[in-house]
Amino acid sequence: RLMVRRAAFALDAGDPDATLYCAMAKRFATDGGFDIANQALQLHGGYGYLRDYPLERIVRDLRVHQILEGTNEIMRVIISREILGR
Ligand SMILES: Cc1cc2nc3c(=O)[nH]c(=O)nc-3n(C[C@H](O)[C@H](O)[C@H](O)COP(=O)(O)OP(=O)(O)OC[C@H]3O[C@@H](n4cnc5c(N)ncnc54)[C@H](O)[C@@H]3O)c2cc1C
Repeated sequence: RLMVRRAAFALDAGDPDATLYCAMAKRFATDGGFDIANQALQLHGGYGYLRDYPLERIVRDLRVHQILEGTNEIMRVIISREILGR
């Protein structure tokens, strides 16, 4: 949560590191969110995978955020370019 807020603050402030912070926050929040939802699916066994229960949609919706707005592989490329390019 702190990473996301720090990125938002950097954007609002016109911080030159805003791109770095946003890429770090996007990658961390979406990978973490998906991992937690995926573990919850596992906990529910087969029912977690079925459309009959809301967890299936939560997992699917979180998974796409690892792809949308630039995939998390590309976030890693951005982060490394920002850090190593200095
Ligand atoms: C439901 C949904 C809604 C969307 N809505 C919008 C929208 O409103 N507006 C919009 O503009 N776009 C939208 N998109 C597109 C989305 O932004 C792209 O799907 C996303 O940026 C990934 O691009 P791509 O699908 O072309 O994958 P590709 O670029 O073809 O990537 C394929 C795979 O290769 C990996 N990869 C590619 N290049 C590298 C690299 N250099 N290093 C390491 N790995 C790499 C990627 O991480 C990925 O895993 C949407 C997509 C979905 C699924």
